[in-house]
Amino acid sequence: MAKRLSSQKLLKNNVLDAQLCTGCGACVSLCPYQAIYNDRTVQLHYCDLTDGKCHAYCPRTPTDFESLRELLFDTKDLTPEIGAVKAYYLTRAADSEIRSVAQHGGTVTALMELALNEGMIDAAIVSSGNQEYLRYGTVAADKNTLCKNAGVKFTVSPMAAAFNQFTRHEKGNAGVVAAPCQALALAKMKLNQDKNEAKRINQLQFVIGLYCGWALSAEKFSELLAKKYIRMDAIRRMDIPAGKNILELHTANGIREIPLDEAQACTREACNYCIDSTAEYADVSVGAARFAGTTEEQRGWNQLIVRTRKGIELIDLAAKKGFLEIKDAPQESLRDLKKAALEKKKTALANITRKSGSAKNLLYLDNRDVLLRRILGV
Ligand SMILES: Cc1cc2nc3c(=O)[nH]c(=O)nc-3n(C[C@H](O)[C@H](O)[C@H](O)COP(=O)(O)OP(=O)(O)OC[C@H]3O[C@@H](n4cnc5c(N)ncnc54)[C@H](O)[C@@H]3O)c2cc1C
Ligand code: SF4
Ligand code: SF4
Repeated sequence: MAKRLSSQKLLKNNVLDAQLCTGCGACVSLCPYQAIYNDRTVQLHYCDLTDGKCHAYCPRTPTDFESLRELLFDTKDLTPEIGAVKAYYLTRAADSEIRSVAQHGGTVTALMELALNEGMIDAAIVSSGNQEYLRYGTVAADKNTLCKNAGVKFTVSPMAAAFNQFTRHEKGNAGVVAAPCQALALAKMKLNQDKNEAKRINQLQFVIGLYCGWALSAEKFSELLAKKYIRMDAIRRMDIPAGKNILELHTANGIREIPLDEAQACTREACNYCIDSTAEYADVSVGAARFAGTTEEQRGWNQLIVRTRKGIELIDLAAKKGFLEIKDAPQESLRDLKKAALEKKKTALANITRKSGSAKNLLYLDNRDVLLRRILGV
């Protein structure tokens, strides 16, 4: 009988070498052999385990999506375009201090502050960075640290690695901010946990997902910035304003603009095969608001999808305690979101088919999956 490949070897062949690695970090901090180097995931030493968690938790290995949805969501809430929707709102932090440092309306930061204050979590796992533009997950336990790490940079931050790291060393409960691929990895931890892992994984109280169109490769982006004489350590925040084809770089000396197509040429390869733009496996998902109004008005608000019962609990509490301003989103906003999400799925599926060479081989996705079949129209 042929020898089974080790989990690590499968990860190498089917994810890392295939350029499907999202940099989520779910395979890191579980053992000493998987590590992050710059914004890449590397294998430092050979491991021959055939039931490694690295493979089980990776968002780019085969996933039983139907079981995952059954575990996390109410079936009646599921939509093919954006996953489960219990409620959909426009929101922003009630606290103007949070809004002044946030990416958009400060919903993510306000929810984390609320959860810390109410004792739902001991640690908010958010993203921090260094001057080389590399991101990493860090623990925030108070408003100051949350505000210091508010705002977004579009390079990958291995948030699942930070969760692994936290739960290896601390016993408290955590909430995690996660891009869609990272939210999927954290959900796979819940689905694929065994009794040795249960205690650690149950420390995860909720995931606040971020919408995500694509992420930048730190290496390619730093080359582009060098050509434009923009210092990486000068950039405090990035944004793509509504209706404009530019990437704004907010620096101490004002805003620099890069044409969006030049920025998108620096997209991480794995993002081309990503079908999730709204963090479908999170408890709540947060993105930029889109409504009739000026760019500045829109920038001050978020769209928020509530997906799970835990998500409902969090938002109800935020309303009751006055942490969030919440209003109904216009119907066309949800329609436009679904349209954009469907576009991303179709583009990614076309890229996957091109890469595999066959419409029957969707790499890490399963062409028998019910929701995917609705997208594919079969
Ligand atoms: C790579 C990337 C692509 C995105 N693409 C889109 C998009 O196409 N459309 C859209 O509507 N929204 C997108 N977003 C989300 C959007 O930029 C905001 O994060 C979201 O609207 C929340 O805003 P906020 O004001 O509530 O955030 P804040 O209250 O400022 O909180 C932002 C949180 O995100 C964390 N964070 C910062 N950088 C990262 C990172 N790289 N990875 C993980 N966490 C991070 C911060 O630590 C902070 O906790 C993207 C985010 C990222 C990271
Ligand atoms: S778990 Fe995440 S970081 Fe590790 S190989 Fe998979 S996608 Fe890459
Ligand atoms: S586009 Fe997909 S793979 Fe890339 S960072 Fe966003 S969620 Fe992850």
